[in-house]
Amino acid sequence: MTQVLILNAGGQQVLGRVSLKHAIGMLYRQVARVHEAVPGASFGPYPVPRSVELVQYIYTRWVYETTGRVPYSKTGVLRRDHFRCAYCNRAATTVDHVVPRARGGKSNWTNCVAACLDCNRRKDSLTLKEAGLKLRFTPFTPAMADLAPRRY
Ligand SMILES: [Zn+2]
Repeated sequence: MTQVLILNAGGQQVLGRVSLKHAIGMLYRQVARVHEAVPGASFGPYPVPRSVELVQYIYTRWVYETTGRVPYSKTGVLRRDHFRCAYCNRAATTVDHVVPRARGGKSNWTNCVAACLDCNRRKDSLTLKEAGLKLRFTPFTPAMADLAPRRY
C-alpha cells in the first residue's frame, strides 16, 4: 500500500506516514492539503498525494496534544489578536515584530502582534517609542482555545 508523508504546516518537517486512503480522507475533511502530488495520477476528484501538509490549526493542535505547548505561528498571532491591529484596532492582515527582527527581535508569541498594513509600515524596523506607537495590550502565549478557527 502506498504511504503518504504527513508534513507540518509549511511542509518543513515530516510528522509521520499514513495510507493513501487515510491521506485522501484528510484532504476530504480539509485538515490537510496536497504538498506534492504524483504527476498525472488522480483519486476521484483528488490528485494522488505523495505528501500532504497539515493546515495550520490542525498542526498547532497536534503539537499541543503531543507536547502541551502551543507552537508559534503567524496565523496564530492573527487569531489570538482577533484579526485586529494591536496599535490602532483596525482590521489586521499582517504580523508585526514589536522588537524588530533587525534589532534582534524573535518570532514568538510575546514579540509578535497582529497589525494593519499602515501601522506595520509605519513601525518598520523602529522601536515602539521611535515609531510613536503604543500597544493596546501585552502580547501573550495563547491557550489552544484562543486559536480556534472562527466559524462564519
Ligand atoms: Zn493599525
